[in-house]
Amino acid sequence: INLLNERWQGIDFSRFNRMTIDADYQGSSKTVRVYLRNRHPRNFSSCDEMFTKYNLVEVPVEYLTEAKPFEMASFGVADWWLALKNIPLEYAHPEFKNVVFLEIQTGSFHKSMSNTIHIKKITWEGQLVSDEILYRVLAAVWGLTILGLLVVRMFQLNRDIKLNTRHQNELISINKLLNLQHKQFEELAQTDALTGLLNRIGIRDSLLAGVHNWNEKNEPFSVIIMDLDNFKNINDEFGHDVGDDVLVALANFIKRNVDESCFIGRWGGEEFILACKDSNLVSAQAVADNLRRVLEKTVLCHDISVTASFGVSTLGSPDLGQLFKNADDALYRAKSSGRNRVVTQDQLKSF
Ligand code: GH3
Ligand code: MG
Ligand code: MG
Repeated sequence: INLLNERWQGIDFSRFNRMTIDADYQGSSKTVRVYLRNRHPRNFSSCDEMFTKYNLVEVPVEYLTEAKPFEMASFGVADWWLALKNIPLEYAHPEFKNVVFLEIQTGSFHKSMSNTIHIKKITWEGQLVSDEILYRVLAAVWGLTILGLLVVRMFQLNRDIKLNTRHQNELISINKLLNLQHKQFEELAQTDALTGLLNRIGIRDSLLAGVHNWNEKNEPFSVIIMDLDNFKNINDEFGHDVGDDVLVALANFIKRNVDESCFIGRWGGEEFILACKDSNLVSAQAVADNLRRVLEKTVLCHDISVTASFGVSTLGSPDLGQLFKNADDALYRAKSSGRNRVVTQDQLKSF
């Protein structure tokens, strides 16, 4: 059977594993020979048809009559052809790349002339894809899948990192804002809303520092409590708002007339406190005297002048309670003895 196509090429059977010939046979041969004659440039130099390689299998006739498949691996190369063509050993194996003729012959030792082979169908079975290609494709698919997963994971990680960085930055800004607010609240908590001076909480640190330095360094520490005289009258006469303006103006007045050694606070209402570090009774008295003297000559605001009374005390023991009691007592004396005056704790004895 000639298998050549119009371009003089045979059929590539190399990927087929099995061959079945469905045929009727009449004759006495016990076997049949099947040749798949392959043409290869190595063996084909002229038009001599013997230059095809004679791949051969000899099977019992039952294989044909019962259409039993036989393996392509059972083919060998006819020894007479190898001997005739003197084929080197390395080319003595069967080849099916370019099969140009299929021959079916009676068995090798059969002599009868009367044989009929009626071929109904010849079938080859094999893999569409060779094992090698299949493994390569599988390996490539696996490789690409893993690569794809890695790329996807990389993108996810990258996105997560960006998201986390953004969150982190947001948290940092929120933290900064909270710190700022915390500072502002802390300041507000320590500041008197009307005058902007320290309030009782705000002045507490300077009082504690005064006691500490008195203890540790023997540094004198004094307080001055200042109370406006008859301030109620100002409220009554000019109204509460004007009274407020006077308190603000007074706070500024004190700030202008006291140096940095004294912390100024609003003790409450129209009462102010000066915590004077490194000041004994004499120097604190001098501060109070100066304030009193200048204040009585000052017009604060709205054409209003006020006077104030002062109680001055100094630390004699690390007892803030006693310090304030002494200052209060002195202030009370200043009020009761006519107002617009400074009384120190030492002068209390003379009253
Ligand atoms: P004294 O000389 O005895 O101290 O007389 P005073 O009128 O100053 O004392 P008193 O304690 O009788 O009255 C204090 C007044 O201070 C009463 C209150 O109306 C006023 N005052 C307290 N806090 C404020 C404030 O924040 N704003 C205003 N406008 N007035 C205040
Ligand atoms: Mg008062
Ligand atoms: Mg008063």
